[in-house]
Amino acid sequence: MSDAKDNCLFLQDTMSRGKCEVFAEKDGVLRFYCCGPTVYGAAHIGNFRTFVAQDLFRRVTECNGLKTLHVRNLTDVDDKTIRGSVKAGQELEQFTTYWTERFHNDCEKLGLLKPHVEPSAVAHIAQQIQLVENLLQRGHAYTSEDGSVYFRISSFGEYGKLSKLKSRDLSAGASRRTTADDEYSKESLGDFALWKGRREADGENFWESPWGEGRPGWHLECSAMCREYLGDSFDLHSGGEDLVFPHHENEIAQSICSSGKPFARHWFHIAHLMVDGGKMSKSLGNMYTLDDLRGKGHDPEVVRYALLSGHYRQPLNFTISSLEAARSALGKLLKAHNLLGGGDPPSYEESLARGGSELGPFKAAWEALLDDLNTPKALGALFSTVNNIDPEGLASDEKEGLRRSFWFVLNAFGICLPKTDAPKDPPAEIKELAEKRLQARLAKNWAEADKHREMLDEAGWLVKDLPTGFELISK
Ligand code: AMP
Ligand code: ZN
Repeated sequence: MSDAKDNCLFLQDTMSRGKCEVFAEKDGVLRFYCCGPTVYGAAHIGNFRTFVAQDLFRRVTECNGLKTLHVRNLTDVDDKTIRGSVKAGQELEQFTTYWTERFHNDCEKLGLLKPHVEPSAVAHIAQQIQLVENLLQRGHAYTSEDGSVYFRISSFGEYGKLSKLKSRDLSAGASRRTTADDEYSKESLGDFALWKGRREADGENFWESPWGEGRPGWHLECSAMCREYLGDSFDLHSGGEDLVFPHHENEIAQSICSSGKPFARHWFHIAHLMVDGGKMSKSLGNMYTLDDLRGKGHDPEVVRYALLSGHYRQPLNFTISSLEAARSALGKLLKAHNLLGGGDPPSYEESLARGGSELGPFKAAWEALLDDLNTPKALGALFSTVNNIDPEGLASDEKEGLRRSFWFVLNAFGICLPKTDAPKDPPAEIKELAEKRLQARLAKNWAEADKHREMLDEAGWLVKDLPTGFELISK
């Protein structure tokens, strides 16, 4: 049975393990923080499952009449970004700027609303140092001989409350995740680095601090940026489920111990996108990027739909056939849009202005979204409604009302429909270029073939190799 009351959004809170009502504690603005990407390579669609679910949350919250303040950080200094920049022979900033731009491009293609603030770790070193000083003064942290500073988890009685791990499991888990360097002079295995003393492997990537040269620990940046943009206490904090421990547990400890105030009121975690039973991840090499999928002919709107087809609290198994199913579902929604009069759909802002009352037959779909963002149920309700639409007997204002209600739900989902069911036909010169590339490939002239692929790419076409030749896909 659904718990949804009229006009309330309910979400499962990781902290209380129960449903919480989403409301803004201050000024009618819902303040929420999302742990953002580590910008050292292309984000994969597993990362995007989390970012798309957070985007859905924001849309449903706003469509339900609340304003939001959405902060999502960029992790632009850590072991991975430093290692990546050294390998690429680039300065850290140049390296992370490149990957940040790629990330922004992908976000736009997936229809993600831009966060209101997107702070980066490197731009907030001073705030992070201040936080460490505060923790040292209050006895929650200690320095070590190599210039690092550690958080003393024994000083925070609530440590482990979010992840519900027993203290023995916590230190075992933490020790698996620490590097040999991190363990230097730690009082206890579970203690974690707030500040890392300068190491040779970091090259020129270090900052001055009261404890000597070094760089911040990963957990610290989120605590510092939450405080900077949302205050000590705010409404909601979110990330993929792998972040519950140790990252979010550590953020809670740092923030509460330094401010003496509550941190996030509620926690929203997204289950993983899986491939063959394992988490999709860069390190396992089982990842797909948006570009990989475009190369196979799957557009970003199809990927977004597929990512939203499962409930965010259940792991979602990724398959190419799930993309084909998503494409066919979007085709059906396009038919419904055309039945309701077609044309340019109402924008997200128009839907916001319209609000979620009087949705007629689309009410069930909207209510399913309000009930813990139950996307499978909402899509089921949406399809059963569109399957029953009979525009013949409708007066034009009734039809327009239905069209607006239909688009209210689609805009809350952030679903974007393809312009047409039919693939776009490439112009003659594009076909000619692709033919030249094929000939170069057959002659094993890879440099020439690559050059033609790049030219096609610049002209907005992806070329997919087939046993019988090639297929051209409009970007
Ligand atoms: P990262 O770039 O590794 O810092 O991760 C960015 C976000 O993606 C974090 O919220 C992670 O929890 C999330 N994430 C990473 N892998 C997956 C996955 N396979 N499925 C869902 N979310 C993921
Ligand atoms: Zn974080």
